[in-house]
Amino acid sequence: MSSDSPVSWFDDFLGVGYRYYEIRMTVTPLFPDLKKAQIFWRETVHWWNDHSIKIRFVETGDTYWFIMGAESRHTKNNRFFFKVLPKSPHYERFKKGHQGSAYLRLGTHSKKFKEDVKDDAKCNCGHIKEDHEEGVDDDSCLYEDCDCKKFETFQINLLKKKKTVTDIKFLDEAEIKDDALAWNCFSVNKYNKERKSDK
Ligand SMILES: [Zn+2]
Ligand SMILES: [Zn+2]
Repeated sequence: MSSDSPVSWFDDFLGVGYRYYEIRMTVTPLFPDLKKAQIFWRETVHWWNDHSIKIRFVETGDTYWFIMGAESRHTKNNRFFFKVLPKSPHYERFKKGHQGSAYLRLGTHSKKFKEDVKDDAKCNCGHIKEDHEEGVDDDSCLYEDCDCKKFETFQINLLKKKKTVTDIKFLDEAEIKDDALAWNCFSVNKYNKERKSDK
């Protein structure tokens, strides 16, 4: 990526999921619905050259910046991902275990309630559905020390298509000057905005 080519930065997605069950760990930008994820794949990610895909994680205190971009065979529709996210155990696990490569897949993240899931589905409170009241108006958690009043869980679904990413770096903000992708992202989405709001 050359520093003077204008990049279109995209942050209209929900967050990033991580999976660990295949040979490589999977990184999954999450969309609110399947259609949006499919369109984004078709228009943008599909055209990325695998070997040129870069992911940068830049830690800033309790949050991190997820930054991802690539050279495209279809430059008109090219967009790069970025999102500022809270550090999570999933993120830390990926950071420790990725071994330099990952699969990239797009996915959806949706809220599910008691009536949508099986008995052993886990609530966000950490307890399974069977441990919650069965009443129609009441689904509070039966564990005495748990103050959960409503069964709620998140489900992640992944699109089948995937690409392999072999250029992954974890940086801190002092190091991004030497990284074209991270530097471009911070310049456009952080430093320029700070300068504007100073005026
Ligand atoms: Zn619960
Ligand atoms: Zn509970």
